[in-house]
Amino acid sequence: MASQRQIQVGGVPIGGGAPVAVQTMTKTETANLQATMDQIRTVADAGADIVRVAVPRDKDVEALKMIVKESPIPVIADIHFNHTLALKAIEAGAHCVRLNPGNIGGPEKVAEVAELANRHGTPMRIGVNSGSLPKHLHALERENPVEALVTAAVEFVELMERLDFTNFKVSIKSTNVPNTIASNRLLSERTPYPLHLGITEAGTKWSGSLKSAVGLGTLLADGIGDTIRISLSTFHAEEEVKVGWEILKALHLRERGPVLIACPTCGRLQFDMDTVVAEIERRLEAYEDPVEVAVLGCAVNGIGEASHADFGITGAKNEGLVFSRGKPLRKVPQEQLVDVLFEEIDKYATSKRVEVDATEAAEGAEWLAKIEAENAGELTPERLAAMEKAASQLDEDASPTAGRRFTRA
Ligand code: SF4
Repeated sequence: MASQRQIQVGGVPIGGGAPVAVQTMTKTETANLQATMDQIRTVADAGADIVRVAVPRDKDVEALKMIVKESPIPVIADIHFNHTLALKAIEAGAHCVRLNPGNIGGPEKVAEVAELANRHGTPMRIGVNSGSLPKHLHALERENPVEALVTAAVEFVELMERLDFTNFKVSIKSTNVPNTIASNRLLSERTPYPLHLGITEAGTKWSGSLKSAVGLGTLLADGIGDTIRISLSTFHAEEEVKVGWEILKALHLRERGPVLIACPTCGRLQFDMDTVVAEIERRLEAYEDPVEVAVLGCAVNGIGEASHADFGITGAKNEGLVFSRGKPLRKVPQEQLVDVLFEEIDKYATSKRVEVDATEAAEGAEWLAKIEAENAGELTPERLAAMEKAASQLDEDASPTAGRRFTRA
């Protein structure tokens, strides 16, 4: 169930129907102001809506005072074990404080933080991690880890409500993907507060991105989750942001920058697509328009498969074609394909319309028709898929139940 309540983290709305916010955490020593600010600017450029910084020492609080002033995006202070640091972070102007009410020294200390946060209007993220549940839930954790996580979170929610503090979001984090999904589903039914989603210690860029996409994607597709953080073992926090955006873009929850589509390649491939796709992906990062760019490994199928793409390229032998929305634009030598593709994207970025040179387009169309004719009998993956689709349509039409609608008893 989607969250009903909304909070504001430094002007970014969280929950209650607001767009899902992308977060990350700096990997620098917070007290190293220069390095921390450099990383914050990098993640903001990559699209982070909010950034979290670790505040384990007094010198980090000192740096935090400057960071909150200079940061282009809201800053969350991440506090563990030490409620005094939480108080100092609020005084320093943190836009939000993240703490685990179970490890901050008891309910009195939580009350002190909540009272000051209320006075400053500072929201909090309260969270439980699978590795640090309160002692009284350890037996339940062994029996039913999901129920134990949700019980801990609900107990903290009730504690904050008793303290008259409701300006918070909640997070349940686990290294276990099925438990993360199940516990957040359950928690979303038991609390109206916004939820922060993440898979703890997800792993490297490769495995961590996949685990996060499965875990967070499943929840987000159900409408659960108001902020996300992809935890990756990399010093480049911007990579976490990029993965977060890809998940949101894949689910059509938010739009940001270009979308790249590429065929999976097969034995008909006509150029070094690995290198070309990687280069296109890297160069597209500099663009803000949500253009769709397609890369087809050969022109055997024509370009109909990618007719929805704003721009695309395909190759054959030593030549290739730049196309737009299913129509040829220019035939070019293969080694110029990428540069010419970007020339066309640049023209579009300026004029907001696709510019077609009739002579060059006709040349491209002629080249494409020739390739298609030469390969008319080829069974490509795309043609096989189209044949399967047509066959299933025929089966469906011939079925005695065709046209009947079934309802569940
Ligand atoms: S046949 Fe399809 S999958 Fe194979 S290279 Fe050509 S476009 Fe890519």
